[in-house]
Amino acid sequence: MLIAEAITKNYPTRTGVLEILRHVDLNLADGQSAVVLGPSGCGKSTLLNILGTLEPPTSGSLRLDDVEPGRLDERELAGFRNRRIGFVFQEHHLLPQCTVLENVLIPTLVRRDSGGAAADRARALLTRVGLAGRLEHFPAEISGGERQRVAIARALINQPALLLADEPTGNLDRRTAETVGDLLLELQSLEGFMLVLVTHSERLAGRFPRRYALIDGALEPLAASA
Ligand code: ADP
Repeated sequence: MLIAEAITKNYPTRTGVLEILRHVDLNLADGQSAVVLGPSGCGKSTLLNILGTLEPPTSGSLRLDDVEPGRLDERELAGFRNRRIGFVFQEHHLLPQCTVLENVLIPTLVRRDSGGAAADRARALLTRVGLAGRLEHFPAEISGGERQRVAIARALINQPALLLADEPTGNLDRRTAETVGDLLLELQSLEGFMLVLVTHSERLAGRFPRRYALIDGALEPLAASA
């Protein structure tokens, strides 16, 4: 489970302190998802970066399963993040010189024991996202929607407990965005990870049962979607 309690984030600036997150609480049980809506600049990426242990909160506590990432040293934290948290960003961040299959395997390279099992899982995930016929293609040889599918498979290769998605469909046309949104939900019900997705798209958010808005740094629950 994910427990974020009383998370605040302030950035000191020349003209004073910017309060980006104020006392944010977010709890997810295993297999639950939440979507966070809000306009550009409201702090959505900051919240995801904190949940993903990429940056520390100014105050508040975070726990993922039985681990408090704030208590880990830098090396332990990097290992924890690699094993337990997957990220999908607006940009796919695939390595252009690596094939689709190689890109998905990159997060497994730090584990020496990965070997054949990792390649089998990568192939199975890529088949699941509809790319069984593109394993040896390079990112430049596939479409934008396909690149984002590869990024999703890469984020899931280590079977993370938590998947964080930051505007994952922001660069895609409407139809492709819908299929990528559906794919994330399908994979979640299949694999049982927790999912936090941030977006400014009401359309994408509408597909999720638990929705929040980030308003003036506070997380407000929204009524369930129809
Ligand atoms: P969103 O993802 O909702 O577009 P962000 O989380 O990226 O918003 O940013 C929220 C606000 O925090 C923005 O106004 C941004 O300028 C500010 N901000 C983000 N990072 C820093 C930083 N390192 N120093 C100062 N201000 C920052």
